[in-house]
Amino acid sequence: MSQNKLTDRFGRTVNYVRLSVTDRCDFRCVYCMAEDMTFLPRQQVLTLEEIARVARSFVDLGTEKIRLTGGEPMVRKDILELVKEIGTYGLRDFAMTTNGSQLATMAEPLRKAGMHRLNISLDSLDPEKFRNITRTGKLSQVLDGIDAAREAGFRGIKINTVVMKGRNDEEVSELVEFARQKQVDITFIEEMPLGEISEHDRGLALCTSEEVRDIIRKHHELIPATEDSGGPARYYRMEDSETRVGFISPHSHNFCSTCNRVRVTVEGRLLLCLGNEHSVDLMRVLRGNPVTDDKLRETIINAMDLKPERHHFSANGDVQILRFMNMTGG
Ligand code: SAM
Repeated sequence: MSQNKLTDRFGRTVNYVRLSVTDRCDFRCVYCMAEDMTFLPRQQVLTLEEIARVARSFVDLGTEKIRLTGGEPMVRKDILELVKEIGTYGLRDFAMTTNGSQLATMAEPLRKAGMHRLNISLDSLDPEKFRNITRTGKLSQVLDGIDAAREAGFRGIKINTVVMKGRNDEEVSELVEFARQKQVDITFIEEMPLGEISEHDRGLALCTSEEVRDIIRKHHELIPATEDSGGPARYYRMEDSETRVGFISPHSHNFCSTCNRVRVTVEGRLLLCLGNEHSVDLMRVLRGNPVTDDKLRETIINAMDLKPERHHFSANGDVQILRFMNMTGG
């Protein structure tokens, strides 16, 4: 593993990169996208070779953890080729966030291609509510996908649930029982004001992590886990289960002081913070002439100076960031 060369002005070391491999998705989750989305034209999207070059440069600079995300990573053609390539970089942690719709057939190939871990998004166990939230998704496909991931031998499978009042907050306990039964972890996420949505008022729908914890505590004691997750989630254990319950609380618990992450959008924009627009154009460097990896690495190192100290999301749901999560790379 290379020595880490990515430190920002606030002394934080960046060792975790989330790479968005597409802005496209087969779902249209109400909190993530507008119903009628315009996606990027092909020439504005990094090729798989370019994404691999970016990944390689980050690894050369000391990155130990890469997550592929999107959009839905599995809708990118030849995604397995990219997974195979990055799988050879010797990462400590190589993960993907997926909506699970294609895992029934893709879980095993992904595992064989070198993927270590999967985060699977699941906001409801009720087929109709699931359809309402995802607009196009079919619950049974995702449930089959979760089973396929377990059968493929993935360890460290994690369910991601965005909790929204009036949509799925009454399912919190059921989702915890599901995670326990499937022997997977589950993380509850506070909805973030990324992109303008019309389906609900984010301010009114916000269900804080504290509220979710209170619901779970009616059934289970939550014991704070001591190990560092290396991500934004804070984890708890239960006495009678291996399942961990995590909380990502961008509103109620600011996690910026320990932020170790940056993101690269599929347009090659290196985003230094989820909740700010500070970014550097890597596509320009990748497609510049002459193209050198030195230049790419230098650009990434210099970009660290732009990483802001923290994000400022307001809890009333006002949009401060215009880009949707599918563009950001969740
Ligand atoms: N398509 C994949 C999936 O569904 O997991 C990966 C991309 S998705 C943008 C990644 C994660 O971001 C999902 O768990 C999703 O629930 C979450 N997400 C999207 N928009 C969000 C928002 N506005 N606030 C909080 N989480 C959000």
